[in-house]
Amino acid sequence: MKYKRILLKLSGEALMGSQSHGIDPERLDQYATEIQRASETGIQIAIVIGGGNIFRGVQAEKAGIDRVQGDHMGMLATLINAMALQSALENKGLKTRLMSGLKIDEVAEQFIRRRAVRHLEKGRVVIFGAGIGNPYFTTDSTASLRAIETESEVVLKGTRVDGVYDMDPEKNEDATRYETLSFGDALQKGLSIMDMTAFTLCKENKLPIIVFDMNKPGNLQKVIQGDNVGTLIS
Ligand code: UDP
Repeated sequence: MKYKRILLKLSGEALMGSQSHGIDPERLDQYATEIQRASETGIQIAIVIGGGNIFRGVQAEKAGIDRVQGDHMGMLATLINAMALQSALENKGLKTRLMSGLKIDEVAEQFIRRRAVRHLEKGRVVIFGAGIGNPYFTTDSTASLRAIETESEVVLKGTRVDGVYDMDPEKNEDATRYETLSFGDALQKGLSIMDMTAFTLCKENKLPIIVFDMNKPGNLQKVIQGDNVGTLIS
């Protein structure tokens, strides 16, 4: 395996599968299978999952809810997804721990860096729920920060496209995929890979990002083997 410890970022929206909102059980099971296969290779896996399938802070203002309240709702949404993923992984026999950025002791452990690292060393899949616990951040920023804190070697951003393209591949047939990009090139070309906060954290801490198609069976394993899948930004 190319890596010993990875941080996998999954969006909440991806969990919807073919549904318009919520959690698609088939998609959840598919992701759990992928993570199980990756875990069986012996690498240490941390996961951050988003909440966009349930609620995003930016939606709040339209509903007359202030932004900070909305962001807290968004963080709780990520926790719901994290709990669903934890159960799906446990159903496959994996050992897991859910660590929360917000204090919600009946449901999840609080995030404590040394404890998170210890769980990883023991081979437990660690899921970070509730973001970093602060409003005005995203789960992409959470992924970058937690990866740095836990000394993960790479952030694997699992999406529904197989990498970063020069144009939107869903709208342009001629779009070409970048195999590799430097942080500087990605910035200069204005490619949106993660939000600025998340991207800058990776850039300044020399933490590589791989954007890849998580919906294609076997892809996660290919990425951790170091196969040329997706786009590597370093
Ligand atoms: N959020 C937050 N702080 C964090 C992480 C998340 O306030 O540290 C809130 C924010 O409102 C965000 C929502 O949680 O919109 C859901 O996360 P995100 O939008 O990143 O989910 P994804 O797009 O990956 O599904």
